[in-house]
Amino acid sequence: MKAKIDFEAQYVAQNYRPLPIVLERGQDVFVWDTAGKRYLDMMSAYSAVSFGHSHPRLVKVLCDQAGKLAIVSRAFHADTLGPFLARLCQVSGMDKALPMNTGAEAVETAIKAARRWGYGVKGIPRGQAEIVVAAGNFHGRTTTIISMSSNQAYQDGFWPLTPGFTVVPFGDAAALEAVIGPNTCAVLMEPIQGEAGIIVPPEGYLKAMRAICDRTNTLMILDEIQSGLGRTGKMFAFEHEDVKPDGLIVGKALGGGLIPVSAFLSRMDVMDVFVPGSHGSTFGGNPLAAAVGLEALSVLVEESLPERSARQGAYLARGLAAINAPGISQIRGKGLWLGLEIDPAVAPAHSVAVSLMEHGLLAKETHDTVLRIAPPLTIEAAELDWAVATISEVLSTFTR
Ligand SMILES: *Cc1c(COP(=O)(O)O)cnc(C)c1O
Repeated sequence: MKAKIDFEAQYVAQNYRPLPIVLERGQDVFVWDTAGKRYLDMMSAYSAVSFGHSHPRLVKVLCDQAGKLAIVSRAFHADTLGPFLARLCQVSGMDKALPMNTGAEAVETAIKAARRWGYGVKGIPRGQAEIVVAAGNFHGRTTTIISMSSNQAYQDGFWPLTPGFTVVPFGDAAALEAVIGPNTCAVLMEPIQGEAGIIVPPEGYLKAMRAICDRTNTLMILDEIQSGLGRTGKMFAFEHEDVKPDGLIVGKALGGGLIPVSAFLSRMDVMDVFVPGSHGSTFGGNPLAAAVGLEALSVLVEESLPERSARQGAYLARGLAAINAPGISQIRGKGLWLGLEIDPAVAPAHSVAVSLMEHGLLAKETHDTVLRIAPPLTIEAAELDWAVATISEVLSTFTR
C-alpha cells in the first residue's frame, strides 16, 4: 500500500491530504482496499455517493446510455435532457434548470444569473452588483468562488480576487438585513454549512432570509450541493423551514455516485437572463449525465432515501449520544449528516479519523476539531450500530 501511495505522490499535485489507504472496489456502503480489507464508508465522497457505491440501477443506466449515446454537446438536442430537467424541476419546485458538471460550475452559473438579473431586472448600476455570502461558507474552488470565502488558506497567493461579495456571520438574520442595500442582487448561502463543520443555523433563519429577500427585492439562492437530495432528511434542506428559494444549486449526489452532474435551478424570470451565447459548458447536460441524473432522482424517490436519512440519522445521533464518549463535546446536524465536535484536549479530529480507518471505518475531519459523518443514505441499522461501537472504542483509546 505504501509503495502505491509513494508512486502516486511522485506525480500528483499535493493539494489534498488523503488518509493512507488505497481503495480499489466499492459496493453500497462498503469499500475495499488493495489488500482486500473492507471499510464502512461513512464519508460517501462528501455526499456524492449518497446512493451507495455502484448502485445497480444507476450502473445499468450508465452502461446502457454509454453504449447508445453519451456526449453530443448542446450544439444539438438530445432526447435525454428534457425528461431529466423536468424531473429535477418537479422534485425541487423550481421552474427551469441550467445543467453543468461540477458543483463549482453550478455556483458560477448562479453568480452569473444573479448579477445579470441584478442589472437587467433590479436596475443596479453597471458594475455595482453585490452578493451577500456567509462567513465560513464553502462553495467551491474557482478564483471567483474563493473570493467569496472567509478562509485565508483558500485565497493565499491566488490574488487578485473577484470583487462584489459581502460576508456576514452565518445564522444572524439582523446582520444579513443590515448589509443589504439597493445594489444587492442576491444572498447566496448553504442552508446548513458543510465544510464549516455541519453548522445548523438557528431555527427560523431561512424563513427570516426569505422575508428579508422579499422585502428588499433580492434573490435568495441556496447552495444545496451537499445538503440537497435527501442528505438532511428532506429532499432539500430548505423544506425544513417550509420556504422556497429563488435559485437553487445542486450537484454531488445528482451524479448517482458515478459521474459529475450539477445544475443551477431558478424561477422563470431569473433563468430568462440567459440567452444564446451568455453561458455554456461542453459537457453540461450530456446524455450520459442526464440519464444517470434522471435515474438518481427516481431512485431517491422510489427508495424513500430522504425519509431513510431522517430515520437513520436520528437513530445514529441517539446511538452516539448514548455512548456519552468523553472525546465528543457536541453532536450536531440533520439526517445522516452529523458533525462530531472532538475535544481538542483528547485528540485532533484528524488522528481520530486515522484511528477509525485502522478500525475499518472511513470518516474525515473538517477543520481541526470536527469529524464529519455522512454515510450513504442506504445504510442499515446494524451498520450504524457497528459504527457507534467502533467510534466509542476508538475514542476510548484516546481517553484511556
Ligand atoms: C462540494 C461543494 C461545492 C463544490 O462542488 P465541486 O463539485 O467540488 O466543485 C460547492 N458547494 C458546496 C456546498 C459543496 O459542498
